Amino acid sequence: MLTKSNADEIASYLTDASNMQGGHTARVVFPASTAEVAEVMADATRTGTPVTISGAGTGVTGGRVPFGGVVLATERLARIGDIVHESGGGYATAEAGVVLQTFQRAVAAQGLLYPPDPTEWSCYLGGTVATNASGARTFKYGTTRDYIRRLKIVLPDGEVLDVRRGEWRADDAGQVRLPLASGRVLVAHLPRYQMPRTRKHAAGYFIAPGMDVLDLFIGSEGTLGVITEIEAALLPQPANVLAGIVFFASETDLLAFVRAARAQSLQTRQAGQTRQAGEAGLDAQALEYFDAESLAFLREHNARVPADVAGAIFFEQQISDDTEDELMTAWLSLLETHQALLDDSWFATNANDRQALRDFRHQLPVRVNEWIARHGQRKVSTDMAVPDEAFPAMLRCYQDTLRASGLRYVIFGHIGDNHVHVNILPRDAAEAASARDLYRQFVERALATGGTVSAEHGIGKLKRPYLQMMYGDQALREMAALKRAFDPAGILGRGNMFAEEFLSES
Ligand SMILES: Cc1cc2nc3c(=O)[nH]c(=O)nc-3n(C[C@H](O)[C@H](O)[C@H](O)COP(=O)(O)OP(=O)(O)OC[C@H]3O[C@@H](n4cnc5c(N)ncnc54)[C@H](O)[C@@H]3O)c2cc1C
Repeated sequence: MLTKSNADEIASYLTDASNMQGGHTARVVFPASTAEVAEVMADATRTGTPVTISGAGTGVTGGRVPFGGVVLATERLARIGDIVHESGGGYATAEAGVVLQTFQRAVAAQGLLYPPDPTEWSCYLGGTVATNASGARTFKYGTTRDYIRRLKIVLPDGEVLDVRRGEWRADDAGQVRLPLASGRVLVAHLPRYQMPRTRKHAAGYFIAPGMDVLDLFIGSEGTLGVITEIEAALLPQPANVLAGIVFFASETDLLAFVRAARAQSLQTRQAGQTRQAGEAGLDAQALEYFDAESLAFLREHNARVPADVAGAIFFEQQISDDTEDELMTAWLSLLETHQALLDDSWFATNANDRQALRDFRHQLPVRVNEWIARHGQRKVSTDMAVPDEAFPAMLRCYQDTLRASGLRYVIFGHIGDNHVHVNILPRDAAEAASARDLYRQFVERALATGGTVSAEHGIGKLKRPYLQMMYGDQALREMAALKRAFDPAGILGRGNMFAEEFLSES
């Protein structure tokens, strides 16, 4: 099996997009099949060697950053299998190291759509399942979890599991029993915490009464097993998509527009069953926010961004030749009602123009990351979501607190799901300390309103204190006990989600 231990060759596996420092490993192994992954894991359990699974390293919480042991790189697991049409869509099988964008293009070439779309398209399919990634289209289509039909997973002792949705469920007492090929029955107990009622949530293990065992692995951040193969559900490719970046002079108008667009979209989806063929309703697939600071950042690289605006919304909606005019009129009418600056706004109804708008949106995190790298600091980046009714006050709290702080910041993201990212950009160590204090205050506030500490990025190693604030020590002990049932030697993804001391206590 390909193995690398030369410092230059393995340097890129010691960090991820969080820029977390201090990672180290003896070697990186590159299995090319599930059988080779099983070999690595069986050997690691036998020798008590910690293993950290590496996807593409686009994670932003240090999840793939190793602190000792070996790194298991998934990039040679890169085959796309069958792409199958079924009525109303289809499904496809692919290995964990397939780049998400490659997968999306392969299914699109067959007239199908794989909706999960984190803004960073270079991630691997396995990494997106391990983090239950979501993105702009989650507002309409849900998260990665909603598309996973089957997973092949190598457990830490090398045993291979093939789990299909609907096959194994937790019982009423929260017990999971999984018969394994070796004849052993794996028994685990679900933690007893309740997940928050936010539209998105990616903090800690997914837990629900009578849950499907497949859902335990989705979002488990490399702690329960190595995902080697994925079968994902696909939808029909939409005929076309209408997209716009619309600017507002007043934030009150912007927020009222978002509320109205969300309400109309949900109404359209509810009415979907009763609508006649050819009739269309306004139904956003994405509703994304840029605050004034984000626009100022982007204006430095793009002179077309208007000055003196309060913020902007990026929206997308599926259209066809039959519905294009009707839906364009519906969006323009809603925008006019809420005083959008239509003359300054940008719209796209073809793939090239739409890609330009998506690239514009993608530029923000990229530019922010470049800026922070130049200042030799780490950005302090939030990922909280709150229930619908709590969002306007949460946004106001972010803005008032940050303006008063004198720190540089941007606020942007998935406003349709009440989930915006605050990126605080410290220029030096003193500002970094103030930024971390503010982060903690924001987490407290989000939790007090019934929110989540992570809506999409997961916990990894960097956000562990916030998971602890959210669920408390007892829940972390129960999570560690669940992990122990899958990984008795405690070798896989050590330090992800909870500190290692919880493993020794469980
Ligand atoms: C600019 C930018 C924008 C982003 N926007 C979004 C966004 O909109 N939405 C979103 O959800 N995320 C976003 N992300 C985060 C990131 O793209 C996701 O977390 C991605 O899903 C991680 O995939 P990866 O292959 O890079 O995994 P890695 O970073 O390599 O690993 C992530 C975690 O998954 C584990 N893992 C990886 N592969 C496997 C496997 N095969 N089996 C088991 N565990 C595994 C690792 O051990 C680690 O804990 C963004 C990141 C960047 C840099």
